[in-house]
Amino acid sequence: MAEDPKDWQLETRLVRGGMARTAYGEISEALFLTQSFAYESAEAANARFAGDEPGFIYQRFGNPTTQMFEDRLALLEGAETCRATASGMAAVQVALSGLVRAGDHVVAGRALFGSCRWIVADWLPRFGVETTFVDPTDPAAWRAAVRPNTKAFLVESPANPLLEVTPIAEVAEIAHAAGAKLVVDNVFATPIYQKPLTLGADVVVYSATKHIDGQGRVLGGAILGGAKLIEESYKDILRHTGPALSPFNAWVLLKGLETLELRVTRQTQTAGRLADQIADHPKAKKVVYCGRPDHPQANVIAAQMSGGGNVVAFDLDDQAAAWRFLNALEICDISNNLGDAKSMATHPWTTTNRSMPEADKLEIGLTPGWVRMSVGLESAEDLARDVARALDAA
Ligand SMILES: *Cc1c(COP(=O)(O)O)cnc(C)c1O
Repeated sequence: MAEDPKDWQLETRLVRGGMARTAYGEISEALFLTQSFAYESAEAANARFAGDEPGFIYQRFGNPTTQMFEDRLALLEGAETCRATASGMAAVQVALSGLVRAGDHVVAGRALFGSCRWIVADWLPRFGVETTFVDPTDPAAWRAAVRPNTKAFLVESPANPLLEVTPIAEVAEIAHAAGAKLVVDNVFATPIYQKPLTLGADVVVYSATKHIDGQGRVLGGAILGGAKLIEESYKDILRHTGPALSPFNAWVLLKGLETLELRVTRQTQTAGRLADQIADHPKAKKVVYCGRPDHPQANVIAAQMSGGGNVVAFDLDDQAAAWRFLNALEICDISNNLGDAKSMATHPWTTTNRSMPEADKLEIGLTPGWVRMSVGLESAEDLARDVARALDAA
């Protein structure tokens, strides 16, 4: 009996999903650095362009290496279709703009990755799309924001940089009752700990730049969902506006997926330990970590996530204390990326959320003393010492 990859466990999917070997029998996925593809005849070219015959046409439309990445990620997520993009932002941009026309309305959680917030607050309105931000944790707020022309909900859960969690199944029901689609940015949860499609989301987006590469090398993104939705809402935008992922980056990301579960589970173990350590320190006024029972939405997390992830956030007294903390770190870098093998910490107030008006930052609960830490793969003991030193200095 031939193996069906859908019967494989997570670890096998990550290593072997989507593998399409050439006649050479290579073990590592082949890297196809080719822009276009030759047809055997004029008739074959005609059939391929007509969609009557499968096959590749041009790198902007698809590529064998990129497709291996797409197929592996789709298998991992349990999605019918995955389309890779050049970055996470290309994925978010296409995921939203494919669902709306001028005159439509989008509702989004108010705490979002900075560029995602810009797309909703500044970019979509330029094309006549109305947008509303809501408290992402409150289903009543989503329901109240619905208008007759609402076509899409965007939520990041857990959300950057406060780690607020949205009850995805409940918000999906509200979206569907309104005739809207729910798009979930699943970066912080990772495909290991949360499966939004099984909770009712219509579309999942990733910045593959984060945990999927996981080693700080390339940008990438992905849009996942039902085959019909991707075909109808995204295929033409992806073909004609050019956010295609480079096959080289797809190849790097395929290597990243092989070790995703090993890395994320180790990072999560260390993050849990550091979160407890920070919570016990008198300098920390508040710690938010999705794996701690004192997370404000611990019950929602228990229902929809199977792990706390690698990001810990905490509030020190003020900006000066947060900066003293960052400047005292000797192992952990000061950087705004996340999901990397190297630990890094950032001060969202002056970096990732800098462009938000101060009143908006305070409204979403972001304070000048807030620090976000992405826990890497270094020894937990070494990181604990680094964090203890920095907290003492704060
Ligand atoms: C990083 C990130 C993005 C953007 O991804 P890029 O690959 O940097 O374009 C979008 N959403 C979230 C939650 C992110 O962390």
